[in-house]
Amino acid sequence: MEYKGARYVPLKKGGYGKGSVIIYYNGDAKLVPGYPSIKRLVLLSKVPEYFPDGVSVEEKMNGYNVRTVLVGNELFAVTRGGYLCPYTNARLREEVGEELKDLLKTLPPGSVVAGEVVGTENPYVRVEYPEEPKFGYFIFDIFVREGKGWKQMPVYERHELVKRYGLKSVRLLGTFEPEEAPQKIKEIIDRFDVEGREGVVMKDPNYKREPAKYTGSFTNIGDIEQGMLYPFDEGKDYLFPRIVREMFKVYEERLEGRAFEERALWLGKAILSPSVKAVKAVAEGNPIHEEFTLRFPSEEDLEEYLRYARALGIKISILEKEVEDGWTVVRVRKYKRTPDVIEGMLKSGHTPLD
Ligand code: ATP
Ligand code: MG
Repeated sequence: MEYKGARYVPLKKGGYGKGSVIIYYNGDAKLVPGYPSIKRLVLLSKVPEYFPDGVSVEEKMNGYNVRTVLVGNELFAVTRGGYLCPYTNARLREEVGEELKDLLKTLPPGSVVAGEVVGTENPYVRVEYPEEPKFGYFIFDIFVREGKGWKQMPVYERHELVKRYGLKSVRLLGTFEPEEAPQKIKEIIDRFDVEGREGVVMKDPNYKREPAKYTGSFTNIGDIEQGMLYPFDEGKDYLFPRIVREMFKVYEERLEGRAFEERALWLGKAILSPSVKAVKAVAEGNPIHEEFTLRFPSEEDLEEYLRYARALGIKISILEKEVEDGWTVVRVRKYKRTPDVIEGMLKSGHTPLD
């Protein structure tokens, strides 16, 4: 594939992990390894077993994973699947390009920074954060090139380095002894559930053990609610894994009586409210599709993104376009399968499932 003079090959499998990619640019070539999958815990009581030497707890931010790397002296941003999304590249270069380049230049060539892009202005995951409502990049890992591989920079060293270059990190919420960790993390999660934040990633401060993630009810149930807006797209795959997470959370919390009833109602409504709304909308002739705003540094960047979306078979259309302080701002619609499925069901009265 191509992006602004770079040629790249996303690798679906092989030794460097899913989403690894080789990028060629300006007489240089770099291999970017895939971002490793993080194991999910459903019982906080198990934390001491996985982190017997203590654990650093970071906020898990809800956006999309973007690895950044220098190739031929230029910054490239790689999505989880190993693609150079033209929107992400253009916006990231514009917002924090210089800072990221400076940081990467101090590391051995081939090193990789990984972070979460969050905010409402992106084509993938839209969650508003008060600290960065539209577009922010929060770093959570640095893979330092060493010998034939990469080594993850220790937690505290990474946080300091990121700060020194004027960039942002995900929040480090504390480092805890194994015995105190379950209670401390529970308190964080309870607070996050009130504030509407996703969860935590637990890491050995020196990456001597595998990291683990844990999410709160706000996200377990909130994801279901989002997903069930489009029951025949995301809804189907979202439902069961998130019910399982909540099943163990409710067990561990020993929820009973009123508190249990409330959680059950919350979950039930998250499944039925958005999905029945979707059926009603189709029945009334107003099928809903996903809509969002994208902000491009230039018209060419928009064109580049539209070509990319077409090449990947993503069905989108531009509803509005305007120039705002030099940015090209567009309202985009992404087409869903759900309205068609519902329409068929309303006509036939049958279900395509059982
Ligand atoms: P997988 O199961 O392969 O990890 P996923 O993308 O569905 O896939 P998530 O449940 O979103 O996984 O959790 C892992 C992701 O969380 C990471 O890939 C990263 O994008 C994001 N993330 C957010 N904050 C952090 C953090 N502090 N440390 C590590 N990852 C983080
Ligand atoms: Mg995520």
